[in-house]
Amino acid sequence: MYDYLIVGSGLFGAVFAHEMKTRGKSCLVLERRSHAGGNVYCEEKDGINIHRYGAHIFHTSYKDVWEYVNSFVEFNNYVNSPVANFRGELYNLPFNMNTFTKLWPEVHTPAEVTARLDAERKEAGIEEPKNLEEQAISLIGRTVYEKLIKGYTEKQWGRACTELPAFIIKRLPVRLTFDNNYFNDRYQGIPVGGYNKLIDALLEGIEVRLDTDYLKDRDTYDRLGRKIVYTGPIDEYFAYKLGRLEYRGLKFETERLAEENHQGVAVMNYTAREVPYTRIIEHKHFEFGTQPVTYVTREYPADWQPGEEAYYPVNNDRNQALYRQYAELAAKESKVIFGGRLAEYKYYDMDDVIKSALERAKEQP
Ligand SMILES: Cc1cc2nc3c(=O)[nH]c(=O)nc-3n(C[C@H](O)[C@H](O)[C@H](O)COP(=O)(O)OP(=O)(O)OC[C@H]3O[C@@H](n4cnc5c(N)ncnc54)[C@H](O)[C@@H]3O)c2cc1C
Repeated sequence: MYDYLIVGSGLFGAVFAHEMKTRGKSCLVLERRSHAGGNVYCEEKDGINIHRYGAHIFHTSYKDVWEYVNSFVEFNNYVNSPVANFRGELYNLPFNMNTFTKLWPEVHTPAEVTARLDAERKEAGIEEPKNLEEQAISLIGRTVYEKLIKGYTEKQWGRACTELPAFIIKRLPVRLTFDNNYFNDRYQGIPVGGYNKLIDALLEGIEVRLDTDYLKDRDTYDRLGRKIVYTGPIDEYFAYKLGRLEYRGLKFETERLAEENHQGVAVMNYTAREVPYTRIIEHKHFEFGTQPVTYVTREYPADWQPGEEAYYPVNNDRNQALYRQYAELAAKESKVIFGGRLAEYKYYDMDDVIKSALERAKEQP
């Protein structure tokens, strides 16, 4: 009998298991995939770590979480500075002085950018935006909207911006400095040697059973743990008895290229509607790789079907109400702790999921 039977070896499960082990508790981790790490898992090919479940960049403003992860693995000084590609024209992101001075070569100073954006907003004359297109134009003007927002957003949502509600975009931050750092957080980077190193360090000395689905033999596994920590989908735990929660899907197409450097940046967003993918990730640049070959992944937004990989929760009224009903059932399972992005049906950045696992571990007697 283990003190804790932990279902799932993603960041939540791995951090929780590590914390309980250091408190002298015994843990068994079950993982239904053939590898540990959940969605931060990387597959190594030709010495390059490929982010199999989507590009992951660690960024945080929590000093304690930053120190925690750095106690297991060193982080490199990668700074996410994506580039937007609109029909071959390249622009820095997020919207900053580099972006604006390239869009309008005659504009040079922050004051000139402000004046230009004000003029575009005024020209549009939108007072009460009726849809996402009007909202975006009223916030940032037509030029930025048409080149950098419209096509990308339509691909992400699978619908025209004129058919999407205005509230999806509340603000469009504009940076009047020449700063391409995408995140505003105090700390950021990629683990040196990749995310698997972090997961391996967290799970060191802990028994992990791969290819093992807890839900396929729940009675047997329940007898193995005094307490269960469940990090899988909450609706699946309850056999979907109230209905299915919905997710947004993604499709990845990865290609090995016999060249050293394909696009010169880790993340390139394709902002024109006619290009079917939203971005191309060139994985080696996350770790400043110098290998003679490279791997690129095209990322396509996709409708999600039950049984497929669940990426982003769909936060609409229906799903939130359904989640709350499942959460009520979960509260009655006194032996089970539900945690992580799938069990809480919540988009969690890595730092937030680590913080949450640390807090839950601290609550344990
Ligand atoms: C496309 C994408 C990009 C992202 N990029 C970033 C980023 O750049 N920066 C950032 O901070 N965050 C990013 N995130 C968020 C990050 O992935 C999550 O914070 C993190 O993975 C959550 O960890 P978790 O343990 O909750 O879930 P997961 O990583 O999903 O782990 C859950 C694990 O449980 C296992 N499991 C489920 N059910 C069972 C069962 N019945 N039996 C056994 N095992 C089971 C699963 O196989 C899985 O391994 C991104 C997320 C996505 C979807």
